[in-house]
Amino acid sequence: MTQIRRARDGEVTPAMKRVAEREQVDPEFVRQQVAEGQAVIPANVKHGSLDPMIIGREFGTKVNANIGNSETTSDIEGELRKLHTAVHHGADTVMDLSTGGDLDSIREANIARSPVPVGTVPIYEAVKQVDDVTDITHEILLDIIEKQAEQGVDYMTIHAGVLMEHLPLTDGRKTGIVSRGGSILAQWMEENGMQNPLYAKFEEICEIFAEYDVTFSLGDGLRPGCIADASDEAQFAELDTLGELTRTAWEHDVQVMVEGPGHVPMDEVADNVERQQEVCDGAPFYVLGPLVTDIAPGYDHITSAIGATEAARAGAAMLCYVTPKEHLGLPEEQDVRDGLAAYRIAAHSADVANGREGARDWDDALSEARYEFDWSEQFELALDPERAREFHDQTLPGDNYKEARFCSMCGVEFCSMRIDQDARDADGEMESIEDDTDVADSPAAEVNRPPVGRHDASDIADEIEGVDLSHEYPSADD
Ligand code: SF4
Repeated sequence: MTQIRRARDGEVTPAMKRVAEREQVDPEFVRQQVAEGQAVIPANVKHGSLDPMIIGREFGTKVNANIGNSETTSDIEGELRKLHTAVHHGADTVMDLSTGGDLDSIREANIARSPVPVGTVPIYEAVKQVDDVTDITHEILLDIIEKQAEQGVDYMTIHAGVLMEHLPLTDGRKTGIVSRGGSILAQWMEENGMQNPLYAKFEEICEIFAEYDVTFSLGDGLRPGCIADASDEAQFAELDTLGELTRTAWEHDVQVMVEGPGHVPMDEVADNVERQQEVCDGAPFYVLGPLVTDIAPGYDHITSAIGATEAARAGAAMLCYVTPKEHLGLPEEQDVRDGLAAYRIAAHSADVANGREGARDWDDALSEARYEFDWSEQFELALDPERAREFHDQTLPGDNYKEARFCSMCGVEFCSMRIDQDARDADGEMESIEDDTDVADSPAAEVNRPPVGRHDASDIADEIEGVDLSHEYPSADD
């Protein structure tokens, strides 16, 4: 039985209790949010290594990292390293977007070892099973979805909202259809002259999802691929269909979140979130970025983190990270790290601005460590402790500098914090800066966005099939 069915029956499940503990909220509040479809706990009954988490606008903003291989790179060891990197750097969920190699073995290995929910896009596997996209049948799709559900996938992107009648609406776009799933289905519909098979078979998919408690991530196959195409008729026509499908899934006791754009100018981001919340009756919104400008290939973790912050401010529940390699190539380890850092900053900034309980304690604790020149504590509390320590030690590596009342940025003579402290000390004011925020006593210590190193990755072994995963992470200069 699914989490939403049990919640509707009034049961507080063990997963809900665990989520409440992580979020520092009342378990009954979690139950109510899940029962009303306002939050999801993606937790396939077959995913034994999962530490349950929740996605919803009333909870901490979550971050997803995409992992997976392409045709040219495919081995289980490499994929497990990516999973390890993503969880180590704070991903709340991962999506395995593999399109090459032994897809089943890679997926099963990831699920067996992942403490975070694993998502997939089943249409990718369907494409690999046929010579031509148009050869995909309803049966092939349903078989793949059922197999992946049986393997323990926690949520699946299902592009069921792209309909035949929506396709002409994309004709005037600058960049057409940019979603991989959306473009595959558009080609299938145009060449077969039939309605989207995922839409046609949606109720059967609901039945499979209900059996394993797989959560829908309703894909936005017509998301805009540039800011010129944002908020157009095609995007909102699909969104209306996603609202209809959300209600159908709920009727089948299946959990739902809804995916969103893509590329949106900053002044339209909040409107997009509010519109999705209204059309989809508050189902959690899971956004890709959005990128707020198209001009910065190589820096799209930044262009998109700006949009992601704005989206989370307005109520988006989960942010799908974008790496610096977006539009340019398959991300590598350093790109995963940079993308996750950008998105965890976006999520945390929005949580602070939205007044999320305990979120700001982390900032305050780090600021105190900084002002006290407690460098070790500052590194420990940093979002990426390894990066912070490495940058500091590039110029002041000695242990004696870990208590120094300056760093190389302003130098010993011009260290403003040292000068300020000395002045306040002389005035006898130093006591006024004492503040005992202790992050260990704060709700922030227990929620899903602790500093890297405090993130609970304990279920990921450092040794996997003889592979040492406790590697050094490369520096930005490597
Ligand atoms: S030298 Fe400048 S940057 Fe470094 S600790 Fe002092 S005030 Fe901060």
